[in-house]
Amino acid sequence: MSLARYNKKRKFDKTPEPRGEVGKKAKQGLRFVVQKHDASHLHYDLRLEMGGVMKSWAVPKGPSLKPSEKRLAVMVEDHPISYNTFEGKIPAGQYGAGDVIVWDAGTYEGMHGPRSEASFLEGIKSGEITFVLHGKKLRGEFTLVRLGNDPKNWLLIKQKDKYARDKDVTE
Ligand code: MN
Repeated sequence: MSLARYNKKRKFDKTPEPRGEVGKKAKQGLRFVVQKHDASHLHYDLRLEMGGVMKSWAVPKGPSLKPSEKRLAVMVEDHPISYNTFEGKIPAGQYGAGDVIVWDAGTYEGMHGPRSEASFLEGIKSGEITFVLHGKKLRGEFTLVRLGNDPKNWLLIKQKDKYARDKDVTE
């Protein structure tokens, strides 16, 4: 895993964001975070820990708890695990300028319990992963599925389970 793209996009003497270094696995569980990012266009960044980095998607409308709402999720550069606790203002003129807050965080696993990072990475390669989030706002099964052959555009979909809601969680 490499954070070269992450590092290349940022000037660390001008942004308070952490420098990108591959991180260590926690003792228990794979981490996820959603950061609300009030950049030129407000969006929510969903990040899933895999292989020492956070695989990342920018979700313009944010995640939904409604299974009928398929949310566009644009894959962006891998972020360092140390980014999970980042909150602050990225200065004007810098990449991603705007305010970042941690909107939700927790752990994730496979549909039937813990699953290896390697198998999730395989899923990303093949264009579909289903995972269970254990957050405060986001809970239960979600799927990320790639749209056609475009490597960047995915859909984030809440699966029908006891955590599905008819109300939008970002409202
Ligand atoms: Mn962002």
